Formats: sequence, C-alpha cells, structure tokens
Amino acid sequence: MAGLLLLFIAFLSDALGEVFKHPPQLTVILEDASELLGLVLLVLGVNRWIKKDDERHATLHNFAEHDALTGLFMHWPYQEKAQSEFDRYQRSKSEFAILMVDIDYFKLINDQHGHAAGDLVLKRLAGEWQHSIRKTDMVARWGGEEFIFLLLDVDEGMCFQLAENLRKKVESLSTSIDDKSIQFTVSIGATLSHKEDISCDHIIDRADKLLYRAKRKGRNRVEINMDD
Ligand code: GH3
Ligand code: MG
Ligand code: MG
Repeated sequence: MAGLLLLFIAFLSDALGEVFKHPPQLTVILEDASELLGLVLLVLGVNRWIKKDDERHATLHNFAEHDALTGLFMHWPYQEKAQSEFDRYQRSKSEFAILMVDIDYFKLINDQHGHAAGDLVLKRLAGEWQHSIRKTDMVARWGGEEFIFLLLDVDEGMCFQLAENLRKKVESLSTSIDDKSIQFTVSIGATLSHKEDISCDHIIDRADKLLYRAKRKGRNRVEINMDD
C-alpha cells in the first residue's frame, strides 16, 4: 500500500515538472492523476473488504465451534482434535488421555432449584475448567451435563492425578442461587490411548464405560482402566 502511495507521489511530482515545462499538457496530466488516484482508492477499498471478510469468517467459525451456554468447544471440534492426536499417537506413541465427566444427580438440581440454576452450574464448571487446563489440553461440552477432556503427553499416574484434582476441585465449588448455596460433584471415566486401539472412538467408548462404572460404584469418583 505504501508503495502505491509513493508511486502516486512520484507521478505527481513528475507531472508538476511537466506542467511547468509545457503548461498546455495540464488537462491530460490531471486526468491521468485522477485515474491513478482512483486506482489507489480501489486497491485500498478491496484490501479493507478482504480484511473485513476474514474477520467475519473468523467470527462465524468461532461461533460454530463453541457451545452457546458454556462457551466451551462443542462435540465436533473436540473429535477433530482427538482424531489428530490419535493419528499423531500412531506415529509417535506419545500417549494421551480422554476423560469423560458427568455431573452427579444433575436432574435433582434442575428439579429443586429450577432449570436456570442448572444452567448456572454448567457455566460455573465451564468457567473453572477453561482457566485451569493446560494450554495443550482441551475441554468440550459433550452434551447435556457431560463434558470431555483431552490430556496430552500423560502417563497413567499423571492422568489419575489430574482427574482426581478435577473431581476434588468440583467438590469444593459452590454456586449461589437466591441466597442458597448449591454444591455438586462429578463422576469421571479416565483412560489412556492403548496400542490395541483401532480408532479414537474406541478410546472415547472406553472412557464412557469407565464413567458408568464410576456411577455404579457410588458417584463422585474417578475410574481409570478397564479390568473387566
Ligand atoms: P446421574 O448422576 O446418573 O448422572 O444423574 P443425572 O440426574 O445427572 O442424570 P440424568 O441423565 O437423569 O439427567 C440429566 C439432566 O440434565 C436431564 C436434563 O434435563 C438436564 N440437562 C441437560 N442439558 C441441560 C442444560 O443445558 N441445562 C439444564 N439446566 N439442564 C440440562
Ligand atoms: Mg449426570
Ligand atoms: Mg449424563
């Protein structure tokens, strides 16, 4: 853009020199100058339009990727990232973990305090997690009151510790609604990528089964690995 302006200034100074040498050429020179100015303005306009279009595209993409209530990633961007981690795992064998997290007795919160209170709990959890996960990891709303985490470069011990920290943190949280304090817990199914896994969905499935084992065993707990 600066180049075009310099070109325009150079053209003007050349043109003014010509005017002083041959005054009758003034009209022709002014016509050329206005054409060049028009071109500069056109290029500036197109450039601005392209930038605006990029901004609009980024806003739409962001909107499509995030859940409106919690602001967390939705199901599909999570699956895309998990799939690319799975592909990377096939090459590098750098393990990753998937955590399936479900709020315990969430229906009771809705029934006792109203749907809006349930929404607040979902937002509270999302806000907490968005700011506490590592930059390389990802958390998404899987659906309803179910969330899913992707933890990169972890071993079994680290995975269990991270899941336990998550569970304990939720246990210590509370949300105030109409001067009442609501407390809640989560159950977690946690699993690492295994060499026998043939797809990413396979790992998600295992995390889901472990989550239901945590529910069966009394809730507010972490279950890791399948031993049955
Ligand atoms: P469990 O411990 O077995 O997970 O019991 P639960 O009550 O959490 O599970 P259940 O599947 O019986 O109920 C889930 C409830 O979550 C039912 C549904 O109305 C509620 N729910 C799903 N999405 C939303 C939402 O966006 N906002 C609110 N407020 N409630 C939601
Ligand atoms: Mg639940
Ligand atoms: Mg559920």
